[in-house]
Amino acid sequence: MKQLLTERDLRLTKSLGQNFLHDGNQLRRIADAGEVVAANKVLEIGPGLGPLTELLVAQAGEVLAIEKDARFIPILKERFAAAKNFTLLHDDALELLKRDRRDWSAWKLVANLPYSVASPILVELAEANDCPERLVATLQMEVAQRLVATPDSDHYGLLTLLVQLRYEPRGCFKIPSSCFHPVPDVDSACVVLVRRSQMLLDHAQGRTFTRIVKRGFSQRRKMMLKLLKQDWPAVKLEAAYATLGLDAQVRAEKLSLEQFVELTRHLCS
Ligand code: SAM
Repeated sequence: MKQLLTERDLRLTKSLGQNFLHDGNQLRRIADAGEVVAANKVLEIGPGLGPLTELLVAQAGEVLAIEKDARFIPILKERFAAAKNFTLLHDDALELLKRDRRDWSAWKLVANLPYSVASPILVELAEANDCPERLVATLQMEVAQRLVATPDSDHYGLLTLLVQLRYEPRGCFKIPSSCFHPVPDVDSACVVLVRRSQMLLDHAQGRTFTRIVKRGFSQRRKMMLKLLKQDWPAVKLEAAYATLGLDAQVRAEKLSLEQFVELTRHLCS
């Protein structure tokens, strides 16, 4: 990989999160976490020079890769010219996901994501009406910890809930910094999230859930009831709190996903 970069005089760009994974074992671990079989369609965001793509193309029925950096497009086209199951889009993946709302329900995301946009990309996919069946994402350790957090942890918050409403965390493993080129300033991990077999809320309720969670965590140290009163009538909130047995003093960070779901159902009724 370093040879190819030198030969083509390619300098990696920090702002595009270009820390390339060169360790074969870690690449295989990420691909294996996708549990990709020939019947699967796989979305890869940020293929770079294509080391993960190569494993995915060998296993999946279809691979769609979206790369923002124009310099890698001819390299990827050349590398996968013979792969009939490979489609490459030159685009900003986050913008594409926002403007082109596809049915991703039969897809799996397997990617070493650009860290600066990893959270919005995962939220965009998780909130899609037809969200992917599995998300396997390599990202900053701190973000990975938030994705798999439980209410007793400091990492628990908005990102946890927006993603866990639709996904169950199934695993998280650390990837040593030495496996990347250039070595990133932050620790990295790969998270595995599997779409829930049943939706906890319908789409309209899901939008209310997002409003509640965003408002509840807008000031983490404040009582959630006070914050929610900016958006919902006090009478309705107090009735919901009473039914759920919630303490009026409770802060958002103490509520479980299930309690947020129940609160949403009450406020939607
Ligand atoms: N998959 C390669 C690997 O594992 O070595 C590269 C991963 S690197 C962490 C992130 C990749 O995402 C880079 O190729 C970068 O150019 C690309 N990228 C950055 N921002 C992007 C965006 N908004 N949409 C699509 N690709 C993006």
